[in-house]
Amino acid sequence: MPHGIHHVTAMAGRAHRNLDIYARTLGLRLVKRTVNFDDPGTYHFYYGDETGQPGSIVTFFPWEHAAPGQVGVGETMETALRIPETAVAFWTHRLVAAGLRHEAPQKRFGETVLRVRDPDGMRLALVGVPGLEAEPAWSTAEIPAEAAIRGVHSVGLLLADPAPTAAILTDVLGFAEVGRDDEVVRYRAVDARDAGVGATVDLHTAGGPARGRLGAGSVHHVAFRAADDAAQADMVARLADRHGITTTGQRDRNYFRSVYFREPGGVLFEIATDQPGFAVDEPIASLGTALKLPPQLEPRRAAIEAVLPQVA
Ligand code: ZN
Repeated sequence: MPHGIHHVTAMAGRAHRNLDIYARTLGLRLVKRTVNFDDPGTYHFYYGDETGQPGSIVTFFPWEHAAPGQVGVGETMETALRIPETAVAFWTHRLVAAGLRHEAPQKRFGETVLRVRDPDGMRLALVGVPGLEAEPAWSTAEIPAEAAIRGVHSVGLLLADPAPTAAILTDVLGFAEVGRDDEVVRYRAVDARDAGVGATVDLHTAGGPARGRLGAGSVHHVAFRAADDAAQADMVARLADRHGITTTGQRDRNYFRSVYFREPGGVLFEIATDQPGFAVDEPIASLGTALKLPPQLEPRRAAIEAVLPQVA
């Protein structure tokens, strides 16, 4: 039964710049170009690996005039991506060349971490993992397969009290504690290989009560994997019976089916099914090349296309 992070969704500023950073500078594959189903005048971009496998996905709602966010307690403070350990120097040079704000490499849980901000101020990290160059990768003209990003490494959550969040991770979402580094406690999906794709969540204890402000660069929610509807229903029942948490009803997101809930620490969590995946409405070979709309929005395509910003 697969567990782990399914995707991370953030808010962004200008759509064109978001595409430039994630598809060109970071070399992720744009696996779906669609709209926010709840706000169809806004894009929803999904980036991932060649097929958009669960755990490789980072998604954005870009708003042309979004005010910048500010990270605070009860939010995701960092989204980390996996790179081969042997590609740390490649990425250090590339981040410098792209003019992105970054820090010198540091060690965390024995891994090399390059912390960087995207142009909206979103806190990213590239984490060097030994042996990753052997995993399949999406390569681009500028980024060879041996250096390419291999999906999500982890999210770091900033919490006033990590214990109730840890209980949800371990009792419902399939994680177990695997280590501590200063104030950070690391959890890993129990069925994942070491440092597997989307397998890690770090809980950081906040020093103060400061609340953040959602805006461009803020993570909106973190989605966790359920193999299918039955596994998702089991997790929903467990949340209610053992933790007193009620989720939303299931929403059809076309590429997965989702329920949402606010975890006790304040972070919006989603449980998304692995099925049906991103090839449900276009072939793998041409993922992300056309604007795709769910059936209920297709009759409004002309009006939607007229209000979306030009991106290419
Ligand atoms: Zn989501």
